[in-house]
Amino acid sequence: MANGVLIYAEIRGGELTNATWESIAAGQALAAALGTTAKAVMIGNGLADHAAKVATKDLAEVLTIEHEKLAMYTPDGFAAAMVEAIRDADPEWVVFSHSYQVRDFAPRVAARLDRALIGDVIKLKVENGQVTLVRQIFQGKINADVTCRTDAPRMISFQSGAYRTDAAKDGSASVRSIATEVGSVDIRWTAEERFKEVKGAIDLSAAPRIVSVGRGIKSDENLGLVRDLAEALDAEVAASRPICDNGWLPMDRQIGSSGQTVTPQLYVAVGISGAIQHVVGMKNSGTIVAINKDKEAPIFDLADFGVVGDLFEVVPAIIKKLKE
Ligand SMILES: Cc1cc2nc3c(=O)[nH]c(=O)nc-3n(C[C@H](O)[C@H](O)[C@H](O)COP(=O)(O)OP(=O)(O)OC[C@H]3O[C@@H](n4cnc5c(N)ncnc54)[C@H](O)[C@@H]3O)c2cc1C
Repeated sequence: MANGVLIYAEIRGGELTNATWESIAAGQALAAALGTTAKAVMIGNGLADHAAKVATKDLAEVLTIEHEKLAMYTPDGFAAAMVEAIRDADPEWVVFSHSYQVRDFAPRVAARLDRALIGDVIKLKVENGQVTLVRQIFQGKINADVTCRTDAPRMISFQSGAYRTDAAKDGSASVRSIATEVGSVDIRWTAEERFKEVKGAIDLSAAPRIVSVGRGIKSDENLGLVRDLAEALDAEVAASRPICDNGWLPMDRQIGSSGQTVTPQLYVAVGISGAIQHVVGMKNSGTIVAINKDKEAPIFDLADFGVVGDLFEVVPAIIKKLKE
């Protein structure tokens, strides 16, 4: 009978991704809540060093599938190998990170096994053995609880930032290589140069203080207010995605999953709701201050200091105080 959790450990550009450690944390949490164990699987060629790193985590086993046809990522090769890993481990749940690579090949794995894949999950809850997954819908406006009614293996991909990398518990696992039939798989793709997120002219990752502005600012004509606050704090200006999408600030000022990741000593979020795609880019900041008129805004869950109020009143008052 299917049992346990199988976690996909992803390698990109020759390195284990950060999201892999988040997936391990998610898989460990799911396994602990279900009273079972978690294994990890890695796919590629020449995996010994990576496998040794993953084996330092609290896992029952690390499985590797290695073949020269898996040296480069292709959906044909990786889907075939992942199906082999799932057949070997016979897990109840399979955990992926919601990366570009996973989005490309995991639906193929699910279709091949005729099972469900619940993508872009931000949270999981387990009550009496019943797993409920939380997904955001309508651009993050509503959280939907989702349960999976298909038989095992049930597959989940977690949004980046849903779990912290440092939440992956340490342990000591053995590494086992699985025999693969991937040699007989027709690989129809040739990988081209890897897609890179836009790297802007401004490297906000080194900024000690950031004032970040969101849709609460209403119009680009009001941005002067945020610039004044940044100047008073000797901080860089950054933004949530809608501000950059509107062209109010350049794309290289965007913080979040499709923007920059920053860890300043001080992050002031002005009129930003705290959608997970934003939060993943700034959650490791030293001190987080949020100014928002909605006391239920998710940014307050994260903030060290919160001001519930109209930014058009609060920000000028702060600037005045700073100037005194
Ligand atoms: C694939 C994908 C990738 C994404 N990548 C990113 C990303 O990298 N970065 C990112 O930021 N987003 C990203 N998003 C968008 C993200 O889901 C949110 O839509 C976005 O972060 C919301 O921006 P916001 O907080 O500025 O706006 P909103 O969610 O509209 O929030 C505005 C906030 O301002 C407050 N407010 C309004 N008026 C006032 C006032 N007068 N005073 C005080 N507060 C006020 C409101 O209460 C509200 O909380 C992505 C989405 C997707 C689907």
